[in-house]
Amino acid sequence: MFEFLEQIRLAGRAFAEFSSHLFDPTIRLGITGLSRAGKTVFITALINALTRGGRFPVFEALDSGRIARARLAPQPDDGVPRFDVEGNIAALSQRNWPESTRQISELRLVIDYQSKNGAQRTLTLDLVDYPGEWLLDLPLLEKSYETWSAESVTMLRQAPGTAGTAWSAFLSSLDPSAAENEQTAIEAARLFTAYLQSRRETNEGMSLAPPGRFLMPGDLAGTPALTFAPLDLAPHAAPPAAGSLHAMMIRRYEAYQDIVVRPFFRDHFARLDRQIVLVDAMAAINAGPRAVHELQQALGAVLDCFHVGRNTLWGALFRPRIGRILLAATKADHLHQTSHDRLEHILRHLAAPAVAKADLAGALVDVAALAAVRATREATVERGGERLACVAGTPLAGEVFDGHIFDGATEVAFFPGDLPSNPDDLFRPSSVAAGGGRHDPDLRFLKVRPPAPSLTAEGVAILPHIRLDRALQFLIGDRLQ
Ligand code: GDP
Repeated sequence: MFEFLEQIRLAGRAFAEFSSHLFDPTIRLGITGLSRAGKTVFITALINALTRGGRFPVFEALDSGRIARARLAPQPDDGVPRFDVEGNIAALSQRNWPESTRQISELRLVIDYQSKNGAQRTLTLDLVDYPGEWLLDLPLLEKSYETWSAESVTMLRQAPGTAGTAWSAFLSSLDPSAAENEQTAIEAARLFTAYLQSRRETNEGMSLAPPGRFLMPGDLAGTPALTFAPLDLAPHAAPPAAGSLHAMMIRRYEAYQDIVVRPFFRDHFARLDRQIVLVDAMAAINAGPRAVHELQQALGAVLDCFHVGRNTLWGALFRPRIGRILLAATKADHLHQTSHDRLEHILRHLAAPAVAKADLAGALVDVAALAAVRATREATVERGGERLACVAGTPLAGEVFDGHIFDGATEVAFFPGDLPSNPDDLFRPSSVAAGGGRHDPDLRFLKVRPPAPSLTAEGVAILPHIRLDRALQFLIGDRLQ
C-alpha cells in the first residue's frame, strides 16, 4: 500500500516537474565521482565559465556569443545545502584548491541566450553535486542484512589488511544472540568503518564496498542508522530473538535503507536529466593493476545505477530519466597533451564492458579526458640528447620528488611518464607485459597548485582548462540551440 501511494506521489511530482519544464526549460545535471575525483573543481570551473566566459571553442553557444549572460538564482530544493561557489572561486583565486565534496549540494544557474534562429530564450541549469560513494549503496536495497553480512565477512577473510585484523578479532568476539548493546554496536561500526577506509586507501580510492555513507557520512555521522556492522552468522541460522544483537543490527541496516538509501535515490538521483561521472583514472593507473581492475568494477557499478528500473523491486520508484552520461577522466593536465587521447582511450576501454552490458534505456554515453582547471603548462626538457615532453607547474608545499621537498612557490618541469598505447597492459603486472615489452606506467604526478588566473581584456579573471568546452557541449549544448 505504502509503495502504491508513494508511486502516485512520485508520478504526481514527475508530472508537475514535466509541466513546469515545458514553460521554463530546466536541466538537472548530476555531478558525481568517488572522493577526490574532482567534482568540486569541475563545478566551480563550469560556473566560472558560464558566468565569466573564457576560451571555449567547442562549446558553440558560448563561443559564438549566443549566451548573453548566466546568473545564479535561488535553488529549488530548500533542504539541500547550497554549493559554495563563491568560497571556491575565492580559494582558486588565491591559488588554493577548494574544499572537496562531503555531501550533496546544489546550485541553480539561469542562462539567457539567443537561439540559433534569433529568439531570446532562457535555460535553467540545476547542478547537483553528490558523492559517488552514495551510488554504490543501490545494490543494498535488494539484499537482506544476512546476505550483506555474509558478503562483507567473505571480503574481510580474503584480504584483511592491518585494519581488517583488528575488525576481524572483534567480530570473532561477538555473539549475535547476545543481548543488544549500544557500546558494542558503536565499537563494531568504528572498527568496520576503519577497515573500509583502509581498503579504500590501499586501493587508491577505488574500493567498492558499501555502505557508502560509512565513508562519506554527510550530516548523518553518529546516527543509529550508521551505527551497525556485519556479524559472522551461521548459514541458515534461526531468525534472531527479539532484543538480540543480531536483531539490533537488522533494525539499523533496514533504517539505513529507509533513511539514507531510498530517499537519496528517490529525491535526488531519479530527478537528474544528465550526468557527468568524474574519474581519477591516473591515480588508479599509478596504483597498479588491482586498482585499475577496481576502477573498472566501480564504473560498472555506477553505470548499473542508470539502468535500474527494469527488473528491480524498487525500480518503479527511481527509474532514472537520464538522457546523457559523460564519463570523464579528470586532471588530464598532469599529462602532456600528447597523452590526452590515450587517457581518453583508456577510460573508454575500461568503461566498454559496463556500457555494453548496461541497458542504458537510450541514454547517450560519451567519454572525455579533461582538466576542469589546467594547473600546468607544456614544456620540453632535453635529457641525454632526448627531448622529453614535460609539464611544468608549482608543486604543492610538502610534495616530494626524488627526495626533494617542495615549498609551494617554485615552478618545476617534470616528465610525467607515458601512458601505454594498449589499455590491456594496465591490467598486467609490469614484469609480464605483453610481448615482453615494457609496461611500467611509472607515472609521476606531482600535485600542483592551481594556476594564477589570467585576465581578459575587460579585466575578468578566467581559468584555463583542457576540454571543459567539449564536456559542456555534450552535456548542455543541444539545449542551447
Ligand atoms: P571531489 O572530492 O570530487 O570534490 O574532488 P575535488 O574537486 O575537491 O578535487 C580533489 C583534488 O584533485 C583537488 O584538491 C586538486 O588537488 C585535484 N584536482 C581536481 N581537479 C583538478 C584539475 O583539473 N587539475 C589538477 N591539476 N588537479 C585537480
